[in-house]
Amino acid sequence: MNDETPSAAERLPLTTLNRVGPRVAERLARLDLHCLQDLLFHLPLRYEDRTTLVSLGTLRPGQAARVRGEVELAQVQFGRRRALLVRIADGTGALTLRFFHFSRQQQQGFQRGAPIECFGEARPGPAGLEMVHPEYRLGIQSEQAATDTLTPVYPVTEGVRQLTLRNLVNQALHLVTTGRVTIHDWLPRELLQRYDLPPLTEAVQRIHAPPLGETSAPSTEPLRRRLAFEELLAHQLSLRLLRARLQQYAAPLLAPPGKLFTSLRGRLPFSLTGAQTRVIDEIHADLARGQPMLRLLQGDVGSGKTVVAAAAVLQAIEAGWQAVVVAPTELLAEQHADNFRHWLEPLGVSTAWLGGRSAKSERRATLAALADGSAQLAIGTHALFQEEPVFARLGLVVVDEQHRFGVHQRLAMRDKGVDGGRRPHQLIMTATPIPRTLAMAVYADLDLSVIDELPPGRKPVTTVALPSRRRDEVVTRVRDACAEGRQAYWVCTLIEESEALEAEAAEATAAGLAEALPDLRIGLVHGRLKSEEKKAVMTAFKSGEIDLLVATTVIEVGVDVPNATLMIIDNAERLGLAQLHQLRGRVGRGGEQSFCVLLYREGLSQNARRRLEVLRESQDGFAIARRDLEIRGPGEVLGTRQTGELQLRIADLLRDQALLGDVQQCAEILLANHPGSVEPLIARWLGTRTRYGDV
Ligand code: ADP
Ligand code: MG
Repeated sequence: MNDETPSAAERLPLTTLNRVGPRVAERLARLDLHCLQDLLFHLPLRYEDRTTLVSLGTLRPGQAARVRGEVELAQVQFGRRRALLVRIADGTGALTLRFFHFSRQQQQGFQRGAPIECFGEARPGPAGLEMVHPEYRLGIQSEQAATDTLTPVYPVTEGVRQLTLRNLVNQALHLVTTGRVTIHDWLPRELLQRYDLPPLTEAVQRIHAPPLGETSAPSTEPLRRRLAFEELLAHQLSLRLLRARLQQYAAPLLAPPGKLFTSLRGRLPFSLTGAQTRVIDEIHADLARGQPMLRLLQGDVGSGKTVVAAAAVLQAIEAGWQAVVVAPTELLAEQHADNFRHWLEPLGVSTAWLGGRSAKSERRATLAALADGSAQLAIGTHALFQEEPVFARLGLVVVDEQHRFGVHQRLAMRDKGVDGGRRPHQLIMTATPIPRTLAMAVYADLDLSVIDELPPGRKPVTTVALPSRRRDEVVTRVRDACAEGRQAYWVCTLIEESEALEAEAAEATAAGLAEALPDLRIGLVHGRLKSEEKKAVMTAFKSGEIDLLVATTVIEVGVDVPNATLMIIDNAERLGLAQLHQLRGRVGRGGEQSFCVLLYREGLSQNARRRLEVLRESQDGFAIARRDLEIRGPGEVLGTRQTGELQLRIADLLRDQALLGDVQQCAEILLANHPGSVEPLIARWLGTRTRYGDV
């Protein structure tokens, strides 16, 4: 770094810094850190306050603190897990440091009486408060505070220590402060003024080392907002580019007269709602345009998305193309297969089923039918796309309950239809209603249709929350409902996503209920059953041969049995609001009054109580989603897409909702007037992560 002219941070490799050789650089690359810019935009996850010393006597459990004392005793404890225990004291109290990994040399450093300073989180231990693997320094420290700014805590990876990252970021910041490295501002001055955005360099400097008490102070907020704005902008731009790229391809022109759908509509036992008709029109227009449709269909549980999908499917088939419907679970895919066969086979449409566990010979026959075009519609789980299926003429991909899929799975599906310069149309359906501004931020690559109306005659499901000590009453209620000829669900939940444990819990519950309710016919369904077994149970429940269905959350989506009017959800506090709302949507599908009982374990947290409350008060998926968003934050609410792909470093979709409108407008202006800024902004914030691959 002897060069006098400043260098752009994105041009300098990390090996420019002291202490970064090829090996360290390789490890940093695992964090997607390649150049100085990457490091400067590797933002802290949180901060620690090390500006003040906390006396041991005032230390509280859970407190992260800088403390100082003298070593009283250091000894190795043998037991279930060998550990080095170091007792320190400062005259006001004492603290134990616990190390599970330590070297002999380290152990010998803890001489009795040696002054020591540590930083860590205090936790209750067998003999008073402890810190496990604190950061520490031995020796006499000056009385002065070690720092007058908050200490950043960075995302790290194996082989890269927090201290290393801190050191490297400091080096990079120093180069910026001394003017040897520049952080280029890709936003032209007129846009900075228009959106009232402060200078970028200052924002970056401050975010790594905010003065004490300033992380949420009004003086820092504009700087944080500056970075959040730019990050959201980069995401918005990348989604828009993706969309623009897709628009360059052609898609099958699907503009038949619409005879097949007219004929289906005439045979349905209901007439379409206004919202369904409107959405079907939007889709029809897309499909007739010769450019790939990429449309997200949002509609609350039970709003009737399936028939909308059928309308799209029929349009493709009537125009001489194949369609495919994909669902995230085998159970839902089965339901769709039944539904679509029932609706479409009388119209002369040939359907094919592809489950994950189909027999080999059946699978081979299905694949052959898809390849030669004799099967017009394929229905299945995403297993459908894991290997070779080749379609003769794939025109439309429908993905149901997309929040359960990752974007990459979705892409794999669409890739099956890639045919030279042509791409199939895509209709993506979800029951996770998210507010429109948020949808625009997260799904800027998709067009959005919303079914905002439920079919007429739906009665709200009466929802109650009961503590588990009143379980017996609930069991009685199940018996009474079934005695009246109704059916019920009993849903077992587990915190861990282990299918095996969940299945076990469901089996135990089913056995217990069978004992308590000897007169009822009880069925059991969980993710570990073979597909034929699941199917047999579901068919029996549908036809009324089973009164009570004990299930895991596999029934969350798609199960449609109008005679079921009672749903019990065990340990309801374990599930998110959206999931509870989905589950509850399994009842209230017929004309009868339905009930949902949320059983919870005693000792609920305030938050958990509030969540169940929301569900009792509201039936509206959008309202529930909004509350869920407030309580849990967008990461949880948006599911895979948000947590998996839209990983934000500093922006917070909830806190920064007010920015989203400006961000969209700014993206448009940049694309139109400053196209040269677009790629650098995306590179800065999204790095080399290939989020979507090639369109
Ligand atoms: P979801 O949007 O949750 O996928 P479904 O498509 O499964 O909803 O529809 C839920 C139930 O409502 C189904 O039994 C379906 O046949 C029925 N349904 C759909 N549209 C209407 C309508 N317009 N009027 C009455 N019932 C309808
Ligand atoms: Mg559905």
